[in-house]
Amino acid sequence: MLPGNDFHIACYFAAFLISFTCLIYTFLQKRTDKLQNKMYILMLIIVTFNAISGTISVIATPLTARSQTARIVCDIGDYTYFLFHTALCPAFYLYVSCVAGAISKHNWTQRIFYGIFFYITEIMVILNPFFHWIYYYDSDNRFTRGWGESLIYVAAVIYFLLALIRLLFSWKAVNTKRRFALMYFVVIVVSGVVIQFVDINIKGELFAEALALMGVMLAVESEDDLMDVDTGFYNRKALRMDVNSYIVNKNKFEIICIKVTNADVIQKVTGSANADILADVLSDYLKTIVPRYHIYQTNPETFVLTLMDRKLEDGVAIADRISDRFDRPWDCGMTSILLNAVVMVVKVPTELTNTMDLFYMVDSMIPQRTVKKVMSGKDLDYILRRGEIENAIARGLDEDRFEVFYQPTYYMDGLRLHGAEALVRLNDSIMGRLFPDEFIPVAEQVGMIDAIDDFVLKQVCDFLESGIPGQYGIDCINVNLSVMQCLQPGFVKHICKIVDGFDVEKSWINFEITESIAASDYEILSGVVSDLKSHGFRFAMDDYGTGYSNMQSIFSLDFDVVKIDKSILWGAEETELGKIILGNSVRMIDQMNRQILVEGVETKEQVELLKELSVDYLQGYYFSKPIPKEEFIDFIQEKAG
Ligand code: C2E
Ligand code: CA
Ligand code: CA
Repeated sequence: MLPGNDFHIACYFAAFLISFTCLIYTFLQKRTDKLQNKMYILMLIIVTFNAISGTISVIATPLTARSQTARIVCDIGDYTYFLFHTALCPAFYLYVSCVAGAISKHNWTQRIFYGIFFYITEIMVILNPFFHWIYYYDSDNRFTRGWGESLIYVAAVIYFLLALIRLLFSWKAVNTKRRFALMYFVVIVVSGVVIQFVDINIKGELFAEALALMGVMLAVESEDDLMDVDTGFYNRKALRMDVNSYIVNKNKFEIICIKVTNADVIQKVTGSANADILADVLSDYLKTIVPRYHIYQTNPETFVLTLMDRKLEDGVAIADRISDRFDRPWDCGMTSILLNAVVMVVKVPTELTNTMDLFYMVDSMIPQRTVKKVMSGKDLDYILRRGEIENAIARGLDEDRFEVFYQPTYYMDGLRLHGAEALVRLNDSIMGRLFPDEFIPVAEQVGMIDAIDDFVLKQVCDFLESGIPGQYGIDCINVNLSVMQCLQPGFVKHICKIVDGFDVEKSWINFEITESIAASDYEILSGVVSDLKSHGFRFAMDDYGTGYSNMQSIFSLDFDVVKIDKSILWGAEETELGKIILGNSVRMIDQMNRQILVEGVETKEQVELLKELSVDYLQGYYFSKPIPKEEFIDFIQEKAG
């Protein structure tokens, strides 16, 4: 038995409900501004209208014999059905191109070429009332397909194939979930079309399309994991995905990275966390520069803009403009605040070729020697070296080219030798000697820091085990730890296992971790510190005075020593204010009963300056630069006289 009208109506109505619901959700989620969103909405509108016109013609057809109105209604239903539906596959092709990040590559000739089948079939539909190329009603008032309808199917197949080719060529630009959803779309729609083509009485096509579009909504359009719900900005994952697809598709564009360097003032002014408020404060301004969907917040203080439209002014000019804006205060609720920012601009693919480098730029600290507010071109060479450095680290681990240098530390009291800090060096076979300032951040990014830190710890244990340091009055060596490594599960066990492999006392090792740690990690870190201390290790807080961390949390950690950063010492020489900061820092830490080491002591004057304060230890070029182990042994032997 052939399916009757009720079945057709049910199919159309189901298609209508699904696509209309998707449409409503899309608008509720405000996913409407990107070209990709627009194409998706267009497909939903096509299916929704088709479902309506399909229903109308099914209802009207049986009445056409008797009623002229029914005839007209039916005609309009059929006509609009074809008018809309012919556009579905071309829209899908454009949609896939958007998802793959390939849309901006089309020039005018390509646009005409890719559009040609659409224009031809659409014109044929428009002219159908005169020529009946697509369909007509025969003398028995039966709907009959014309040869043009087959042409529409051919065009649809062509667009599907183009979409698949596009997807294939941009394979690496589209993540697995999205790929799957798009392939699924093709499969389910093609099945619907084939069934309906074979038997016109089974109207499964629209239903299949609506279902497939719903799948696309869930897997491709959904951005829950790509944006921060509160700020509405895209996150790191979105940046990685988008930039990756632009690069795979060989787009030329520029990236602007804005790093706010004093975001901590927000916390001081408003009393609440920086990230959301900062995004709020900058939001309106950033949206005047690029559309919302080209703005990303990758770190609490870092915003990234992608400049895709080459007709715009060039990136450096925009960066200058952004930088100038930071000379004026920003509205922040009841008050206004002044923010400092460094703005970086890179051209892709000439200056930056991969997302690893991008995230290195986004995450790494701005080199301290930088005074520029806008960094571009040569200023960013250090980022371009990242890839080479990464190779050098891997080579270094492979070829055993890391080396530990030692820099002595001194007692303030009598300026006697006290201990040493172990500082790693990399002597690369191609790039020559590399300093940790440059390779440690890269090693952290690519997960090779563990191997380096383990190597240093083993070297230090080996040195201590030899008995030489102890023999010349050095009873403790400082070893730097990466906070990232400390937070890994099983870290304490791992460290103990290494040290237990040597005949050394744990109290001979003093671990240093730097002050600038994300607040959320304090709880874990605090556990790690007390755990390691309970095993007998000592602990120092490194680089005090460089981070923006919360004092209360920082000092809740159980440190034996606080190392005051060289910038604080040097600042004290320059201005009266600097002197007050140094003096009060020392007094405060002293009152907390922590020992104090001042780093970066380079001159006799600095030693004199520090004598007036209750500092316990000194370290710096004044005493010695970091030197290789053999040289260090000579050094301490000589000092011991
Ligand atoms: P840091 O822990 O703050 O180390 C002190 C840095 O200041 C060293 O640079 C040292 O050479 C330099 N320095 C010492 N005295 C003076 C001075 O009087 N004047 C000046 N201008 N500089 C001085 P280095 O060796 O390049 O190390 C840089 C950073 O790399 C270290 O900063 C530390 O954070 C990191 N690092 C070094 N070795 C390791 C390691 O084995 N593991 C980890 N995770 N990080 C390391
Ligand atoms: Ca250190
Ligand atoms: Ca330091």
